Amino acid sequence: MVIAIDGPAGAGKSTVARGVAEALGFTYLDSGAMYRCVALAALEAGVGLEDADGLGELAEALRIELEGPAVRLDRRDVSAAIREPEVSAAASLVSVHPRVREAMVSRQRELIDAGDYVAEGRDIGTVVSPDSPLKVFLTASEAERARRRAEQSGGDAAGVLAGIRSRDERDSAREHGALRAADDAVPIDTTGLTAAQVVDRVVELARERGLP
Ligand code: C5P
Repeated sequence: MVIAIDGPAGAGKSTVARGVAEALGFTYLDSGAMYRCVALAALEAGVGLEDADGLGELAEALRIELEGPAVRLDRRDVSAAIREPEVSAAASLVSVHPRVREAMVSRQRELIDAGDYVAEGRDIGTVVSPDSPLKVFLTASEAERARRRAEQSGGDAAGVLAGIRSRDERDSAREHGALRAADDAVPIDTTGLTAAQVVDRVVELARERGLP
């Protein structure tokens, strides 16, 4: 079973999903880390980011392990490497390809079917788990999202803003697994809220719905 937390870059999904998972005793699932692993592997192997079949084959063959905050790709710890700006940009390019998405979605479903998860991404409530008993769509103003990302990555705010803008545009416009709120998602604007306040709100929603 899964609580779905979707939204654009910098809306607070990771922090909130981690906090909710901890509060409820669920496991945290970072679906974006999986697309980032595909992107890193493609950059390293020299597979073109437009090469739908090459990327599909690569995605199907990768061994991706998510353990707490650690992300391992074919047994190598890539937790830091997948957060590089170049990999962020490449992740939103590889993730437009249906075969890549199918490979990642089926892995995510396998995990979710075997336990209780709080999963964050773009399409958890719409594609990965349309039957999720609680879907949350997090947003925040563009300026606030850029500020948060710049704080995390140490980059300059203008560069970070340009990066998240182009990723959000691409993520929203793609045909498969586009970034959008499910009809039955609860929208939460996190601008001006602390992470703890948002976690409390989501935990309250979970309890109201009898979860866990
Ligand atoms: O969430 P994060 O910023 O780590 O995601 C990186 C990229 O992976 C996103 O910009 C998006 O293109 C892709 N992604 C996706 N579907 C998801 C999660 C992430 O397409 N469920």
